[in-house]
Amino acid sequence: KLYNQVQDLKGNIRVYCRVRPSLGGRSDFKSVVDSIEEGTITINTPAKYGKGCRSFNFNKVFGPTATQAEVFADTRPLIRSVLDGFNVCIFAYGQTGSGKTHTMTGPKDLTETSQGVNYRALSDLFFIAEQRKDTLHYDVSVQMIEIYNEQVRDLLVTEGLNKRYPFQLIIFLNNGFNVPDASLVHVESMYDVIDLMKLGHKNRAVGATALNDRSSRSHSCLTVHVQGRDVTSGAVLRGCMHLVDLAGSERVDKSEVAGDRLKEAQHINKSLSALGDVISSLAQKNSHVPYRNSKLTQLLQDSLGGQAKTLMFVHISPELNAVGETLSTLKFAERVA
Ligand code: ADP
Ligand code: MG
Repeated sequence: KLYNQVQDLKGNIRVYCRVRPSLGGRSDFKSVVDSIEEGTITINTPAKYGKGCRSFNFNKVFGPTATQAEVFADTRPLIRSVLDGFNVCIFAYGQTGSGKTHTMTGPKDLTETSQGVNYRALSDLFFIAEQRKDTLHYDVSVQMIEIYNEQVRDLLVTEGLNKRYPFQLIIFLNNGFNVPDASLVHVESMYDVIDLMKLGHKNRAVGATALNDRSSRSHSCLTVHVQGRDVTSGAVLRGCMHLVDLAGSERVDKSEVAGDRLKEAQHINKSLSALGDVISSLAQKNSHVPYRNSKLTQLLQDSLGGQAKTLMFVHISPELNAVGETLSTLKFAERVA
């Protein structure tokens, strides 16, 4: 019966909005967010964007005081799904500085309470696997890759990082399951995962300078592959979960940038709109889903659509000077929701 679960009646795509707190710590700070009511967020738009209030609807909106635990709470059922044999994608979308990495990983000085979705998801996964150990034996492995300028880099190599970069995105069939040709590392506990994430973050920083923080202009993806074997029947189920910290969605002014920056911006623009196109055509139940328009959607093809479940965290900043990006982020999200 594990294999024939009824599809979630609420649909397989959910979109949550998260507003980060103001970072200045000023008591007279005035947020562009006028109100938050369950799934509705209302933005106070300045004259330049058509003065007045504009509302957007989501499955849920997390305000600036929401904790990491609260944000993760609704994600929990998805972790169970992965162990039941479903594929899951969790995305963080938003302009640079809006809190994507905070949601997925956490702040730089990480503590147990500030851990983001990636850590909480894996820790839940191990916890549930342990609870089920009398009936199912689980095997968990992870991959970590980065997509920069439509080129893929394996973040879990211990040496020869640049030799492996870029590599062709070859998706091979492993036991009837799609896996990209990047290091696939078996993990047994949270300790293993934390070590690997450290390695991945260190590798990701290679090639970035203070002035050129590449992490905001590449997508990073932590993929968790789960295989469960029924202790009595020997039947095997497989599930996988992609945890994706997307490149910053901000538009760059073509008149101000040239060369590499312009090329990066065009690649990001193209892949984020390809992702938006895929998710919105899935939401509208279109028969043709344009997966092939970007590396990201090609990579995730197995886990977007069909029985797979998708969750997108859309991030916005509360500052007035970011309101233009905030409105375009919310419009993007409205299209996929
Ligand atoms: P992004 O990954 O979208 O560029 P970050 O996650 O790096 O943005 O967030 C930018 C800054 O704001 C960081 O210093 C981060 O710690 C802080 N921040 C983001 N979201 C929150 C939050 N919900 N609560 C507290 N600080 C946050
Ligand atoms: Mg980030």
